[in-house]
Amino acid sequence: MQDKLIIFDTTLRDGEQSPGASMNKDEKVRIAKALERMKVDVIEAGFPIASPGDFEAVHQVAEVIQESTVCGLARALDKDIDRAAAALKPAQSSRIHTFLATSPIHMKEKLRMTPDQVVEQAVRAVKRARNYTDNVEFSPEDAGRSELDFLCRVLEAVIDAGATTLNIPDTVGYNLPQQFGELIKQLIERIPNSDKVIFSVHCHNDLGLAVGNSLAAVMNGARQVECTINGLGERAGNASLEEVVMTVRTRQDVFPCDTTLDTTQILNCSRLVSSVTGFPVQPNKAIVGANAFAHEAGIHQDGVLKSRETYEIMRAEDVGWHANRMVLGKHSGRNAFKSRLSALGIEFEREEDLNAMFTRFKALADKKHEIFDEDLQALVTDTFHEATMDRIKLVSMKVNSETGEVPVAKVTLSIDGEEKHATSDGSGPVDAIFKAIESVVNSGCKLELYSVSNITTGTDSQGEVTVRIDKGGRAINGQGADTDIIIASAKAYINALNKAQEQSGRAHPQV
Ligand code: MN
Repeated sequence: MQDKLIIFDTTLRDGEQSPGASMNKDEKVRIAKALERMKVDVIEAGFPIASPGDFEAVHQVAEVIQESTVCGLARALDKDIDRAAAALKPAQSSRIHTFLATSPIHMKEKLRMTPDQVVEQAVRAVKRARNYTDNVEFSPEDAGRSELDFLCRVLEAVIDAGATTLNIPDTVGYNLPQQFGELIKQLIERIPNSDKVIFSVHCHNDLGLAVGNSLAAVMNGARQVECTINGLGERAGNASLEEVVMTVRTRQDVFPCDTTLDTTQILNCSRLVSSVTGFPVQPNKAIVGANAFAHEAGIHQDGVLKSRETYEIMRAEDVGWHANRMVLGKHSGRNAFKSRLSALGIEFEREEDLNAMFTRFKALADKKHEIFDEDLQALVTDTFHEATMDRIKLVSMKVNSETGEVPVAKVTLSIDGEEKHATSDGSGPVDAIFKAIESVVNSGCKLELYSVSNITTGTDSQGEVTVRIDKGGRAINGQGADTDIIIASAKAYINALNKAQEQSGRAHPQV
């Protein structure tokens, strides 16, 4: 029997901590369902004590997820652990993940605790978590810069206290593959009760080594990798799930273990996370980038046409490219629409929600002949934005764009149910519409980033607009999609403004 490599996805927790990537409850549930379809083993759904919204999101994910284990993060504090346990209560299978820093610099400067106190608090936290669940993970934060002897001492103590997974994070992305692999090997060899637990790793990508470090750890005995879709995460991000999973799968000749993931769901998850967070995937990104399986140079094309293995080490369809590219159109019926959504992991509890979505699908199909999976994802994201408790809604707009004339935008918004009108000119149509919206909302936010990309190919494609605004130092992303890019721009800006009003005052786990 080959060892199983456990995939712990933290897109909804560490990924969400990327500046601008915050997600609401519905978005988190949608991503969690897609992760479950991909057969991710553990889904870290959030940090429940951060805010009431974070608590609710973890609680909701715990309620709907049946197959995967749902995990909540907690500092090594009683109140955090109690809050995580409460959020996870509805879960079929739950895990509490608690952590405490063990590096000299963190203990001295951040915690202001002695090493003895750190051991004592770690043990106490694990014991408290064990009162709620027998699935407890402990992370010595900044393990990559901790002293080996002390690390062994803390970890041996938390195993005795009942921890079942020990996660070794390279919190600041400082390690090198050989060194990090050696660290895991040493820990497993030196800790007397190490055979009672699963060793896990959590690597950051500050030097571009997150995947390399994670895999070096796996070669040295780690059997869980913490990762995120598209490598989303704080600063330069976490190890990318798709790269870890496909490297292990592709190089079964060297890895002593494999995951049980359904890799054909990878592309779907990647697009969903990108569309919800507004973090586009670079074209040359491994596995999920638009060019990952594209061949340009003639010599390569020739080789691939003669025999695929000459230049391809993986099959594009194994990660979801070209799979089920069933196209819908204006003549597609409600059943075809429903079954395509369900293949993408999108289900509706209420019949009227499906009907509303179908109406919007028909409207899109009138403008655009072929509707691809990417169009459906964008349509659902857009509809969710509008269906939520958004205070600001776009009612109608009109923009005039003409050579030799100053562009003018007219907009009608609904704010808390009350209609407001505004007109503004601008240097271009997008500038004019944003100024018109801002003149009604008065958010004071600064626009930091604006980008448009086409969701599929062709001039009839939907444009997907991402904006990033800054509100008092906090970055917020907004998304909007439409076949008319000026309307998509307005939707994206309004989406960001709504998010700016929702979330504030969340606690960060590492501060
Ligand atoms: Mn992290």
